[in-house]
Amino acid sequence: MGTPVDSSKGLLLIISGPSGVGKTTITHRVRVRLNAVFSVSMTTRPITREDTDGVDYHFIDEAQFKRHRDAGKLLEWAKVFGNYYGTPRRPVEENLADGRLMILEIDVEGAIQIKKNMPDCFALFIEPPSEDVLLQRLRRRQREDEQTIRGRFARAKHEIDRARECGVYDAFIVNDVLDVAVDQAVQAVADELERRRKSQTQEV
Ligand code: 5GP
Repeated sequence: MGTPVDSSKGLLLIISGPSGVGKTTITHRVRVRLNAVFSVSMTTRPITREDTDGVDYHFIDEAQFKRHRDAGKLLEWAKVFGNYYGTPRRPVEENLADGRLMILEIDVEGAIQIKKNMPDCFALFIEPPSEDVLLQRLRRRQREDEQTIRGRFARAKHEIDRARECGVYDAFIVNDVLDVAVDQAVQAVADELERRRKSQTQEV
């Protein structure tokens, strides 16, 4: 998708996981702990009470989304639950050039696209402890009716299978106890940064 992004300075971190797994909370905590920058995606999905426009997402209509996409302004995009989602290219390029850690919270299809353009990104997949637990968590959110929950659950199972087989993810983290999952995610990124620092020192 367009020209590759030079990520030689900063680190691009992808965090994915099925809905209901707690990835938004984990992403938020990882961002704070590692002083990272969160990539604000564009989406055509309707805004909810929990969302802040410009902070969680840029909420736009389908025509605007397609204009951005067709003008090459998105690094990747996907259609999820009937709505378009995409990562604006410029903030990613600018933050990586500044040497920052940039976090993309995107789905598996988006992660596959990014990995093709930027093979040196680092990708984490958050998993539920079991399918039963995921189904319980989706129900507990009380956001949707049973049919929608069943749909999300089926998609979640498919997404976990896809994540395992696609070869894009560097680590899989089970979110059983939230604090432990956050620690593991932070540690995985810290280890990766250290590994890269060492290999750069060896190259000089
Ligand atoms: P939600 O609407 O529940 O916030 O997100 C639905 C799904 O879309 C999640 O799996 C989320 O990770 C994914 N998503 C959010 N932003 C993007 C994006 O910019 N690109 C892609 N490919 N997926 C995204």
